[in-house]
Amino acid sequence: MVDEIKPGDRIRVTVVEGSFEGVLMPRPKLSPEDVITIKLDSGYNVGVKKSEDLRIEILKKYDAPLKKKPKDPVIDPTKRTVSILSTGGTIASRVDYATGGVSASFTASELLESMPEITDYANIRASQVMNIMSEDMNPKLWAQLAKSIADEFNTGADGVVVTHGTDTMHYSSAAMSFMLSDLQKPVVFTGAQRSSDRGSADSFLNLSCSVAFAASDYDGVYLCMHGGLDDTFCLAHKGTKVRKMHTTRRDAFKSINSSPAAKIQSDGGIQSLIPDLPKRGDANPRLQTALEEDVGILRVYPGMKPDILEYYLQKGYKGLIIEGTALGHVPTTIAETSLIPGIKALIKNDVVVGMTTQCLFGAVNPHVYSNLRELFSQGVIYLNDMLPETAYVKLMWVLGNSKTSQESRELMASNIALEYNEKTPIDDFNL
Ligand code: ASP
Repeated sequence: MVDEIKPGDRIRVTVVEGSFEGVLMPRPKLSPEDVITIKLDSGYNVGVKKSEDLRIEILKKYDAPLKKKPKDPVIDPTKRTVSILSTGGTIASRVDYATGGVSASFTASELLESMPEITDYANIRASQVMNIMSEDMNPKLWAQLAKSIADEFNTGADGVVVTHGTDTMHYSSAAMSFMLSDLQKPVVFTGAQRSSDRGSADSFLNLSCSVAFAASDYDGVYLCMHGGLDDTFCLAHKGTKVRKMHTTRRDAFKSINSSPAAKIQSDGGIQSLIPDLPKRGDANPRLQTALEEDVGILRVYPGMKPDILEYYLQKGYKGLIIEGTALGHVPTTIAETSLIPGIKALIKNDVVVGMTTQCLFGAVNPHVYSNLRELFSQGVIYLNDMLPETAYVKLMWVLGNSKTSQESRELMASNIALEYNEKTPIDDFNL
């Protein structure tokens, strides 16, 4: 009996302690031969030791998914055209029975095959531009992605949805906000917290809301994911003001120092949540993909050694974003731990230094305390309520697209893609 059971089968295993129901996983290389591994519906794996009293029932044999040839889409001239570009991540993943983990393997067109209802909102084109988990995203791939998005607009798309791993999706939405200048159409990032072959997958609602929003009258770069724990609505967040705030929840993404831009219901109905949400125009975006890669982010913490700043100088970094404490503090008053000499040396060597806050909510302000005035007078740029991740991506872009450090400093201080508020809205402390 046990021999007929194959990895991928749904089984119930009963031992003296109780019974477990789930999918049989192949034996991981390092696990003992007498242990059966089952993936439970919760997503966790459990190992059960083979014993005399063990009973196994097959509940359902594993059906390997059939590769269907996608049908040729029927074009409805009354609808807008939305391109779905897949880059990988959990939304493009299924459980890999060889490793017991999930790996990226669905393409955008396969996702589309499993939810043809999104063609109610738009004519759909789908292609895969890369297939990575987003922890492997990098500046060169951002440039490639920006070019692919611009190509879609230049060949007739009215909106673009990018399916992406969630870990670094907010860095990518910020990167596209700067790299696609004068964007007059919507680019909507979306992902999933559960792989698309699970009953509990969140990808279907996320994708359908994103397509509805990409076909709407609005413009700009957004990130659209579940707004709550059930499958009733999604929220579209501005690409520069959003962050992943939970490792597993479906509503992991939150707007920071901003209201979400729009609410999208499961039936595609859209409600704008901010006044004057920008409306689409006809022009196609201008590509500005140059990025300076020698930029770092440094988090300030009690007990940090100031000599860490020497590393950035010696390695020839051109920019550094500091995540200071609260209003933008770093250790200053005790000589041995002060960061001021190190920061001065960076600035003297033309390294552009920007200050953000590890509080995330609220703005930095160099005018409240005298030690902050000193940092400010040294040339540290205080970046209002800009998120550290957005500031990091912006600094790479600014350094890649300006000729002098003076020009970089001016660009850093100007609001290019709604990345900061002149006055931080106090009511948007909304986790
Ligand atoms: N680690 C995965 C990724 O970012 C997680 C996800 O997609 O949600 O690609």
